[in-house]
Amino acid sequence: MNEHPIPSKAEVAVVLVAAGRGLRAGRETPKQYVPIGGRPLLSHTLDALAALGAPIQPVIAAGDEDLYGLALASASPQARPLCRPPVHGGQTRQASVLAGLEALSASGGVSHVLIHDGARPRPSARLLASAVEAARLHKAAVPGLHVTDTIKQIDENGIIAATPERGRLRAVQTPQSFAFDLILAAHRNANKEKVQDLTDDAAIAEWAGHKVHVFDGEPSNVKVTNPEDFARMDASLLAALPDIRTGQGYDVHAFGPGDHVWLGGLKIPHERALVGHSDADVLLHALTDAILGALGDGDIGSHFPPSDPQWKGAASDRFLRHAVDLVQRRGGMIAHLDGTLICEAPKIGPHREAMRARIAEICALPIDRIGVKATTSEGLGFTGRREGIAALALATIRLPVGI
Ligand code: MG
Repeated sequence: MNEHPIPSKAEVAVVLVAAGRGLRAGRETPKQYVPIGGRPLLSHTLDALAALGAPIQPVIAAGDEDLYGLALASASPQARPLCRPPVHGGQTRQASVLAGLEALSASGGVSHVLIHDGARPRPSARLLASAVEAARLHKAAVPGLHVTDTIKQIDENGIIAATPERGRLRAVQTPQSFAFDLILAAHRNANKEKVQDLTDDAAIAEWAGHKVHVFDGEPSNVKVTNPEDFARMDASLLAALPDIRTGQGYDVHAFGPGDHVWLGGLKIPHERALVGHSDADVLLHALTDAILGALGDGDIGSHFPPSDPQWKGAASDRFLRHAVDLVQRRGGMIAHLDGTLICEAPKIGPHREAMRARIAEICALPIDRIGVKATTSEGLGFTGRREGIAALALATIRLPVGI
């Protein structure tokens, strides 16, 4: 059967280990879900792994489903379709990796696997390609960095017992890459023999008697661990998006017969309805146009022509999410969305926080990046005569340079 020594891309898969409790980060939320650059750490890792184009098998802790769901929703549109349903990890990292490998084994067809830590958000596409290449050539391989500090081994009293030769030391990272059958068998045997405390997959392969090759890692491929790491990574992610743009949006829909309106993604009882081809949610339309304006990419009508019957009665959250996806496809982020509704009725105040929450959910953004306000027009003009509702919006986005 094994007549194809060079596997195709489709036979490579990634196990993404994200089941840790992250106690070392000194926070309530497990560290892989702590926001950096405006969204969960894990979503950045997913985006980086997407460069490989291979399926990703996430391993998460039981009870973290909602946190994982938010991380997935805030990942790029390139990354989301690559993610298989997550499986639950075990008590140790080793048990979690085995759970991921077993899930891939059950679906079959994987010849080589990369095993990567959820808290390492920035492996480059080049590093991922090197990992695949190394697995093909050596069957077991890990990225390693030369150490610049002199490393000391100490005894139980904190006294230096040995000084290993620095030139032969490597600080090992992930993704670690393996022939799939080799690492699955090694993990299964270690589990059967109750060897449970090995801290990386190279150690499992070594324990099973395999030679593990070391290829060049990357200094930027850091594991985010301490509060200082979070601050540094946060600053570096934002610094990588220096092209800051603002777009505006404006929309109006007229009242017609009905008993509710859609505003800010919420269905609000009212004695009239708003007339439109879609659900006529003026606030979501204005926000969508504001984002498209910041991108310099047409308007809501050019992306979703009213002449197209598929948008008849459509829920406008799709339009807004599409605009957010366009920003993410360009490697950017939404820094802030701010909308103002102009109407005499319905009263917006009682719904304002729910609207912010709904818009945050649609866009997979933290709620503190969403503003919703409302005003009447003091009885003046078409909104004052209760003929319709108007909405204004501003979007601030950040993009990488040179796109
Ligand atoms: Mg509209």
